[in-house]
Amino acid sequence: MCKVIGELVEKLYKYNSLSKEELIYLIKGINDDNKELLIEAANRTRIEHYGNKVYMRGLIEFTNYCKRNCKYCGIRVANKNLDRYRLTKEEIIQCVKNGKTLGYSTYVLQGGEDSYFDDEKMVEIIKAIKSMYPQDAVTLSIGERSYESYKKMYEAGADRYLLRHETASRKLYERLHPDGDYDNRVRCLWNLKEIGYQVGAGFMVGLPGQTTEDLVEDLLFIKKLEPHMCGIGPFIPHKDTPYRLEKHGRLDDVIIMLAITRLLLPNVLLPATTALGSISDKGREKGIKAGANVVMPNLSPINVRDKYSLYNNKICTGDEAAECRRCIENRINNIGFDIDLGRGDNLNWTRG
Ligand code: SAH
Repeated sequence: MCKVIGELVEKLYKYNSLSKEELIYLIKGINDDNKELLIEAANRTRIEHYGNKVYMRGLIEFTNYCKRNCKYCGIRVANKNLDRYRLTKEEIIQCVKNGKTLGYSTYVLQGGEDSYFDDEKMVEIIKAIKSMYPQDAVTLSIGERSYESYKKMYEAGADRYLLRHETASRKLYERLHPDGDYDNRVRCLWNLKEIGYQVGAGFMVGLPGQTTEDLVEDLLFIKKLEPHMCGIGPFIPHKDTPYRLEKHGRLDDVIIMLAITRLLLPNVLLPATTALGSISDKGREKGIKAGANVVMPNLSPINVRDKYSLYNNKICTGDEAAECRRCIENRINNIGFDIDLGRGDNLNWTRG
């Protein structure tokens, strides 16, 4: 078994591709004795492409209003236990300025699907940031919108868009998103790519009812889509959702998915997510060692941090942006990596 696993890892390292059957065999055959083979190959691939740099992005969680009802998510519209907030344009700009002072040059504006932030308001915010810092990158993560809306925001200067596909298994997707449309989510990702954004897809690991075969669908999906970024983190239950009693995704399972993703897409930007750091104290460090090369410390104002409650036990909700910045830098240095505060564009990408 171990020999076969070793051969599969070598093949994946060399060709950046495996068949569906091989991926299933690999994932089912990974254990404590052979997982280092995979992690080491993923790390080698990252070093060859990106060196030992870990890119920092400042995350601004600007609204927790959401019209969607994703069963796993704490900010779903049906959660009446949540204190809802929206940052004003001025508050968002203040977060960006604060980020700039701390050295960041990329800002991620994330929120629920909040109709208040229509195209006009988003364009205004994007233009305001880009006029202050034209060289810096603005990333949006505000869910599904029309082609025209994505285009307007791109033309206003937005550089990147994060829209996790959540799960590539249609059956599981439909179970998790009673009001969702799998085909539309996938279409949005292709639209974003066509418009010219650097696109981030991604998925959760350990979702209720998720199988190895479902995870292999995720891997095959990202291989086909070739996103510039891919956010992978554990599912974590939230107390005010239908999945409150479910178990969170396992650390090792996330690490394995990160490593395989790095090997399938050597140039991908791969975050060691906050959710990964929330299930294990050294989760993000383990993710970085397995091929992750991005972290997204929080720049949101302290008084809203715990209201952006996607899942329970989220880390860093009480820390100032400056503390988060220092803490993560220390963690990265302690495992022999260096931070990079540049834009950190995907190696394959040039703005058209
Ligand atoms: N409205 C945006 C942003 C969603 S929140 C969008 O639709 O893309 C950002 C990400 O948090 C989601 O894409 C999801 O993958 C993750 N998330 C939400 N609830 C979670 C949970 N309970 N556990 C782990 N990750 C979760």
